[in-house]
Amino acid sequence: TYILAIESSCDDTSAAVFCNDVILSNVVANQKVHEAYGGVVPELASRAHQQNIVPVVHKAIHDAGITIDDIRAVAFTRGPGLMGSLLVGTSFAKAFALARNLPLIDVNHLQAHVMAHFIKEDADHFRVPAFPFICLLVSGGNSQIVMVHSHDHMEVIGQTIDDAAGEAFDKCAKVMGLPYPGGPLIDKLAAVGNADAFKFSKPRIDGFDYSFSGLKTSFLYFLRDHLKENPNFIEDNKADLCASLQKSIIDILMEKLVLASRQTGVRTIALAGGVSANSGLRNAIQSAASREKWEVFIPKFAYTTDNAAMIAVSAYFKYLKGDFCGQDAAPFARTEF
Ligand code: ATP
Ligand code: FE
Repeated sequence: TYILAIESSCDDTSAAVFCNDVILSNVVANQKVHEAYGGVVPELASRAHQQNIVPVVHKAIHDAGITIDDIRAVAFTRGPGLMGSLLVGTSFAKAFALARNLPLIDVNHLQAHVMAHFIKEDADHFRVPAFPFICLLVSGGNSQIVMVHSHDHMEVIGQTIDDAAGEAFDKCAKVMGLPYPGGPLIDKLAAVGNADAFKFSKPRIDGFDYSFSGLKTSFLYFLRDHLKENPNFIEDNKADLCASLQKSIIDILMEKLVLASRQTGVRTIALAGGVSANSGLRNAIQSAASREKWEVFIPKFAYTTDNAAMIAVSAYFKYLKGDFCGQDAAPFARTEF
């Protein structure tokens, strides 16, 4: 069964074609318009989605080596995300389904980030996490510890009470004068810095929840104080600042993840969301794995940030159950699972 999936929750327009759970194509158009603004501008994002969506879908179908007549179902990201952005993908999917008389499948964007672990590329070398597993979902908008019971039953057991981990990276990068999104740049600069050069305050939060706004504030004040003495403080210490900041964020993430695993007894650990591209976090998970006897799953880089492949694979499991939605399904900006 060929499924076409559309993702448009934030600032990436993406379309993918799957044959069951096997990926045939995944096209992502990034939006450059936001760079000048230091963050995603919602109105510009939805306009760019409108420009991108038809060529992106065309390319996905072409790259898959099929024709439009082969498609048997249409999936789309229903939320959470930016309302204007979601509306473009949702409307496109509905129109496509209506015109071609196909079933529609709505997909939750956060569940889809977790489901990226089930995207099959090569049937012979395919490893998937066994249920139940714990997924650390760290993206630009969310930081959650998710207990994954099955393909469609996920439970958030911990989450940030303020900023997301990706937001912490991006906001601190902005304070240092780095362009948006700062996460990947901090990662790159951190590689040549000393992670023990500086210390920043750590949150004290109960249970498996996170907090990152205190770190951001402490970083801001730290820089402000040092800039008074040395106006070139940031330039002089950029790599060390990035390495120390990155270490702080990773320490916070790892502490609760280890706690969640120990308390629940679940040792199959997966990583998802854009921040899972971070090399420091990947290393930290690998070293925790040998210490804690974890079996670790880290998705391919292309499937960590926003993409339609994760929407398509989520849709496939809903398709198997006949779990479709109607033309009246409205997108939603915020929700949990
Ligand atoms: P959500 O899925 O919660 O709606 P999103 O889709 O905007 O948010 P993603 O695309 O999953 O988020 O991830 C983007 C985030 O990942 C950004 O904050 C970016 O800075 C961060 N990021 C990407 N690569 C790295 C990296 N190597 N190190 C740290 N952060 C990174
Ligand atoms: Fe996302």
